[in-house]
Amino acid sequence: MTRNTKATLVGGGIGNLAAAAFMIRDGDMEGSNITILDAQPVMGGSLDAGGTPVLGYSLRGGRMLTSDNYECTWDLFKTIPSLTAHGSTVFDETLPFNDRHRTHAPARLVDRRAAKVGVPSMGFSMQDRVELLKLSSAAESALGSSRITDCLSPAFFETEFWVMWATTFAFQPWHSAVEFRRYLHRFMLEFTRIDTLEGVKRTVYNQYESMVLPLQAWLVSKGVNFLAECNVTELVPRNLIDDFEVVGVKYVRKGVREAIVVGEGDLVFLQNASMTDASTLGSMSAAPEFKSKADSGGWALWEHLADGKPEFGKPSTFNTNIAQSCWESFTVTVKDSEFFDTMMDFTGNAAGTGGLVTFKDSNWLMSVVLARQPHFVHQPNDVQVFWGYGLFPDRVGNFVGKPMSACNGDEILTELYGHLRFDRDPLQTAICIPCRMPYITSMFMPRSAGDRPLPVPLHSKNFAFVSQFVEIPEDVVFTVEYSVRAAQTAVYQLLKITRPVTPITPHDKSLHVRFEALLKAFK
Ligand SMILES: Cc1cc2nc3c(=O)[nH]c(=O)nc-3n(C[C@H](O)[C@H](O)[C@H](O)COP(=O)(O)OP(=O)(O)OC[C@H]3O[C@@H](n4cnc5c(N)ncnc54)[C@H](O)[C@@H]3O)c2cc1C
Repeated sequence: MTRNTKATLVGGGIGNLAAAAFMIRDGDMEGSNITILDAQPVMGGSLDAGGTPVLGYSLRGGRMLTSDNYECTWDLFKTIPSLTAHGSTVFDETLPFNDRHRTHAPARLVDRRAAKVGVPSMGFSMQDRVELLKLSSAAESALGSSRITDCLSPAFFETEFWVMWATTFAFQPWHSAVEFRRYLHRFMLEFTRIDTLEGVKRTVYNQYESMVLPLQAWLVSKGVNFLAECNVTELVPRNLIDDFEVVGVKYVRKGVREAIVVGEGDLVFLQNASMTDASTLGSMSAAPEFKSKADSGGWALWEHLADGKPEFGKPSTFNTNIAQSCWESFTVTVKDSEFFDTMMDFTGNAAGTGGLVTFKDSNWLMSVVLARQPHFVHQPNDVQVFWGYGLFPDRVGNFVGKPMSACNGDEILTELYGHLRFDRDPLQTAICIPCRMPYITSMFMPRSAGDRPLPVPLHSKNFAFVSQFVEIPEDVVFTVEYSVRAAQTAVYQLLKITRPVTPITPHDKSLHVRFEALLKAFK
């Protein structure tokens, strides 16, 4: 690599934003030699958020982070200045915020009578414990492409543990046993406090404003070029017998076909697909439209590249079963404090300290989270915003005779009040914006070794994948951390950076943590 090396990054999610930052910070690259293209109007990918108090705010997701894991993420954000706490980095702003607003969730589960469910134990039978131990100590090669249901008996999915774990991390019984096993190891510390979510850390505002915007501002200050609304349609390979090298990037921007020539020694990074591809927003009066990859074309580039090239993975493992990878979230904007006051009274938590409240008997398996307010930087004082989701959007509700996926925002609120047994009044002025995400858990689909490419595939000369759909040993998908780790891995390898990728903290090897986890499982 020389100081004139150029890099073209396809996709502007946190993965590629991180890749650009690692190239500049650790690879000594010129920011002005880096160009990031994204199909969306804004950078940030799945982490986007927006709206106004009048039209309602919207976020596709609200993230839980930890400071005991997320090693690459914090390594990065220790460098990035905050936009709201002047003189601090994002890391320095976030940790003290969490010390001031510690998570402790006494109302983690709520039952069908709207009563808080105490969780004195995980609810395991001896058979559950034996099966769980067997699964957690199995080799990944032995589990292969099996599902969680292949390893655990039906009664396990009725335990308090399963409801808490599934709703915290978005697992479904039919998901990959290998991924579930990885989570048990990676988040063993969280297993010991899953009933109170005490390990959870949150950003000061939503993750678009607290993570994406500061990172993007830092990249802009270094001269990085951004091209939004740019759909990359083809990566042109050089005809080589053994190696793979990209020599051109073709894209369509505002209806115009253009191309970037990739010179000798230049680099290309691709975000192969997105968990929020083909997602759609509804409104108070309309359910979100049903869309799929056929409408968005979001998986086409990876599918095209992987055709006949097994080292580039197998996208069809992840994107051919919307019924098993879809769920729906919603964002609610309220214009008086009554809902928040009633919720805080009910849960015993100030907003921002409660984690998730899950209605464990709800047909949609519905949860809500009240973040610390304001959740948007310019949110007025008399407006509050909360976020929720249902993991089974295809089921008919308990209080609304329709599947969640067919409901508008008003009907979703009716279902929510029903579970809370609140009068309709507190939310009379609310705006609820639903969001359907057909591929949200696509990365959890059962997979075999090789279905995900390596960040830098074998024989690649100048090309890397940075996404949730690459293979990184031991780490877990459906996290910001996985994308940032993929970025660090790919950048360090292609740029031959000798600084090691930030290691995974081996909590599962700690005798103390293992002992605490066993105690929890046998309580
Ligand atoms: C509802 C929800 C809840 C979540 N909860 C958590 C949580 O609690 N904790 C946590 O750590 N993580 C959580 N996550 C996961 C986390 O947000 C994602 O893992 C992360 O944001 C993915 O980042 P990415 O950069 O890899 O991909 P993305 O954000 O998906 O970005 C990929 C980008 O690439 C672009 N792109 C792809 N192909 C092309 C092309 N051909 N041309 C142009 N552009 C292209 C897409 O438009 C997209 O913007 C959650 C996510 C959601 C949606």
